Amino acid sequence: MNTGLCIVKKQNFYKNRHLWIFSGAIKTVKDVHPGGIVDVVSVDGKFLGRGYYNPASDIRVRMLSFRKERIDREFFKKRIINANLLRERFLENTNVYRVVYSDSDLLPGLIVDRYADYLVVQFQTLGMDKMKHMIIDALNQVFRPEGIYERNDVQVRSREKLPLLRGTISGKEPPDLVQVQENGVKFLVDVKRGHKTGFYIDQRENRKKVRELSPSRVLNLYSYTGGFGVYACLGGGEVVNVDTSKEALELAKENFKLNGIPSHKHREVLAKAEDVMRERWNGDMIILDPPNLALKRKDREQGIKKFTSLNANAIHSLGQGLLFTFSCSGNIHTEDFKRAIFHSGQKVGKELILLELTGHPFDHPVRVYSPELEYLKGALLYVR
Ligand code: SAH
Repeated sequence: MNTGLCIVKKQNFYKNRHLWIFSGAIKTVKDVHPGGIVDVVSVDGKFLGRGYYNPASDIRVRMLSFRKERIDREFFKKRIINANLLRERFLENTNVYRVVYSDSDLLPGLIVDRYADYLVVQFQTLGMDKMKHMIIDALNQVFRPEGIYERNDVQVRSREKLPLLRGTISGKEPPDLVQVQENGVKFLVDVKRGHKTGFYIDQRENRKKVRELSPSRVLNLYSYTGGFGVYACLGGGEVVNVDTSKEALELAKENFKLNGIPSHKHREVLAKAEDVMRERWNGDMIILDPPNLALKRKDREQGIKKFTSLNANAIHSLGQGLLFTFSCSGNIHTEDFKRAIFHSGQKVGKELILLELTGHPFDHPVRVYSPELEYLKGALLYVR
């Protein structure tokens, strides 16, 4: 592969070990097509690293390495093996996890999720998309999966002027529902049409916590395919799952069945969580896991407001008990999240005790130098 040249006038990214070079930091770019590899050098000619280039994005270059190494199949294989080693050490009775989490694994723009014998991939940037074949080869060599499916129907691709598409790119097409295991709990996942790459893998440890807490009556708001609810039942409780997606609730029913949970222990309600919360919840726990409330940076204030009001309503509905509340927006920071919880409690005039702050698990690690990768925040609260 031909390597172009990118001369930078500002080296902050390098000093901070950050992987993104914005247009303002660049002096000149030579001999490279959009999506191609460039050597990044300082104005006085010092080699700083290697990355890929996209003139259509504000982030002109994303770094792949701070060393002079070839960006080939072996490079990707090494990176993927390292990423997987980090995960495998911690996994028990689990075959659904994120294998590669973009910048955190020094593979900016690449997402690889494992669902039992299948891999689901996202190439979020032009540079990564161009190297798709090499990456698929590397994944096949490392995992020997039954098939690799692309969920390249994510909006971020439009910003890189990439088409939105999905389909099987290697091996067998996954079945309509792939059965996976998470902490020994079974789930059916629609990797082809479900949200994200099919499942909210990032809630694994929080779901496990719910089983350990063994609440007796749980209101699982924004339940999707029943994740938290199944764990609550396995912990000995019963649950009402609320979601606006009929398909998600249908699949939730299957997931309860699959884990041997009798039907009188769970109920699925097709409704808006906001409406259900108007009534008093006669139980000891509410889970509040809404969709991203601030998709763009400019939505931050609005998102915090909405999050505050949702929490106030949940606190009011619960009266007394456990509230497990989440925000999955990278634009709502931990401090915003904590302040919003403060305001929601204050609004209702209730005692609120923070038992634990949580986030995404080790398979969604946050590279210290790339804090933008942090998004999920969770708080386990006692309300009285
Ligand atoms: N807790 C889930 C993930 C929740 S994702 C898990 O562990 O798997 C957010 C969910 O909210 C999606 O399933 C979406 O269909 C649902 N949703 C979006 N708006 C809603 C609303 N107003 N009321 C209820 N559910 C909603």
